[in-house]
Amino acid sequence: LSKENQDVLKAYEWLTKLYHHLLRHTKEGKEGYKYLKDRGFTDEVIDTFQLGFSPNSKDFIAQFLEKKGFHKQSMIKAGILTSNDQHNNSTDRFRGRVIFPIRNHLGKSIGFGGRTITNQEPKYLNSPETDLFQKGKLLYNFDLARSHIRKSSEAVLFEGYLDVISAHKAGIFNGIATLGTSITEAQAKLLRRYVDTVVICYDSDKAGIQASYKASKLLRSVGCNVKIASMPDGLDPDDFIRKFGDTRFKNEVILASDTYMTFMMKYIKKDYNLNLEGDRIQYVESVLDEIALIERPVEREHYLKELANEFELTVETLSQEIHSRREKIG
Ligand code: ATP
Ligand code: MN
Ligand code: MN
Ligand code: MN
Repeated sequence: LSKENQDVLKAYEWLTKLYHHLLRHTKEGKEGYKYLKDRGFTDEVIDTFQLGFSPNSKDFIAQFLEKKGFHKQSMIKAGILTSNDQHNNSTDRFRGRVIFPIRNHLGKSIGFGGRTITNQEPKYLNSPETDLFQKGKLLYNFDLARSHIRKSSEAVLFEGYLDVISAHKAGIFNGIATLGTSITEAQAKLLRRYVDTVVICYDSDKAGIQASYKASKLLRSVGCNVKIASMPDGLDPDDFIRKFGDTRFKNEVILASDTYMTFMMKYIKKDYNLNLEGDRIQYVESVLDEIALIERPVEREHYLKELANEFELTVETLSQEIHSRREKIG
């Protein structure tokens, strides 16, 4: 690690403590604290995830860092401060936001997410990408979740850090999230080293469902078994937990998650009008393509039967289709 990056890590460590202290113990942080309390976060959770608050000031952080002897240019380069001209002037990046420290896999803060509590745009402001903070390689909460993930061979993948924290509060400790982007191959491969199964638990709005489909393809391509959890009415995991409680979240969302095949069939069905013969055939073809990729014969037969029943086809015909597809795949 370069001297400069060591400094940046040190700065993140100080700032994590400072923001957390401000939230928990000072009047500057009161509104942030109240915001989190109103959203149901307990002191214990606030402490575990070191949540904080950045005061609504242009240079509170700049002054703090200067007193500690940090170089302004390095802090600007790291995205902790924002430069606004050529004269070494700067503005604190996070102002008046609840701070979510983003920890690397060793538990060290390497970035922040800041949520507005007054409906400012953007809703979430994240630290910029640097060589220390690479969003595509990092999984939020992996440091705390790792042992639980290993023990259960299962991870729950969420869309946002807030969902991870809510789920933790609900007793789900193997939750992780990507940082505002879709899951990358590097993240999928990292997970694969620890799990057999990933439960995808994205928001149940249109974007979330589409992202679930994409993520399941990628996770399966690196050898993960995938399940997909869903919630009613466009809720996200945090919404569901607050509305229906921890137990129902575990039982009706996590444990009741769909297998990949069930999810996939529901998902692609939306593109077809099954009252039309042409659409019906295309739909069956698409599902056959997926069934042909399943390795276990028992599982293949299970879905073939299901498909045969649904469209009043014979299992024999469908089996032939599978056979020729599998020969092509080799
Ligand atoms: P909340 O419940 O506070 O609204 P959320 O987690 O439900 O938060 P979403 O809008 O579902 O928020 O977004 C999920 C994730 O996407 C967030 O955790 C954040 O990492 C990222 N994200 C959302 N909006 C932005 C944004 N404007 N800029 C950068 N990242 C964002
Ligand atoms: Mn969303
Ligand atoms: Mn959400
Ligand atoms: Mn939410």
